[in-house]
Amino acid sequence: MLTDYHVHLRTDEPENTAARFFTAANAERYREAASERGIAELGVAEHIYRFTAAMEIWQHPFWRQYAHDDLDYYCGFVREETDLRLGIEMDFIPGAEDRIANVLDGRDWDYVVGSVHFLRDHSLDTEDYSIWGAGESADRIWRRYFETVAHSALSGLYDIIGHPDLVKVWGSATPVPDRDPRFFYEPAVEAFAEAGVAVELSTAGWRKPVGEQYPAVPFLEMLVDAGCPLALSSDAHEPDQLGFEYERAVELLESLGVREIAVFEGRQRRMEPIG
Ligand SMILES: [Zn+2]
Ligand SMILES: [Zn+2]
Repeated sequence: MLTDYHVHLRTDEPENTAARFFTAANAERYREAASERGIAELGVAEHIYRFTAAMEIWQHPFWRQYAHDDLDYYCGFVREETDLRLGIEMDFIPGAEDRIANVLDGRDWDYVVGSVHFLRDHSLDTEDYSIWGAGESADRIWRRYFETVAHSALSGLYDIIGHPDLVKVWGSATPVPDRDPRFFYEPAVEAFAEAGVAVELSTAGWRKPVGEQYPAVPFLEMLVDAGCPLALSSDAHEPDQLGFEYERAVELLESLGVREIAVFEGRQRRMEPIG
């Protein structure tokens, strides 16, 4: 079994509207590319901030600029016009847990991917609203990032923790803490294990400035030692990116003795052999 769950039906530009990309023909392009790469379990997880419902959660100007689409229309489209699993990439916003739960409740997700893209009002991975250069040390940003990711897992809102060390995305273009990164991973690994949540091995990092998968190898080793289930995804934003670098990812998992990956349906997880 190979999975690709953290998948977007369009790239992030605001002009990529639901009307243009939430179509059976577009979903079919993804299904075909996945089949060519041997990926049977395919699902989509659009960014919550593209939907008007996001405004019930958080009023950040970045979100306000993008929140145009109807969440129920998306869910109905995926269920009725595609054979894809239905997911959502739902940001974790500390303090907004009840509002996030309200948006998730009553919709029949196969899985919910939890992501931390912002620390307070500052973004980790976009040039707009960037946290980098805003006066905080790398040490403090990393510490806050991993504490927030830990908090997201313990919230119980999520099935999969997405790109769990996104803080490194810019690689050497932004400052990196001097100390052993395992110091930062530790509280996150403990929280993931306690929450029993799956953690994403995302191959997207290989196409980002950092040039390595999420999570980094020492982080992945700690997750394996702690018995955390792993979910495999590419964070594709177009069909060509589906299953990106999967051979390398599978090799990495095998080298760490991982034989199974997480598969989801109706927010129930089961483990299936990789490959
Ligand atoms: Zn993300
Ligand atoms: Zn994503």
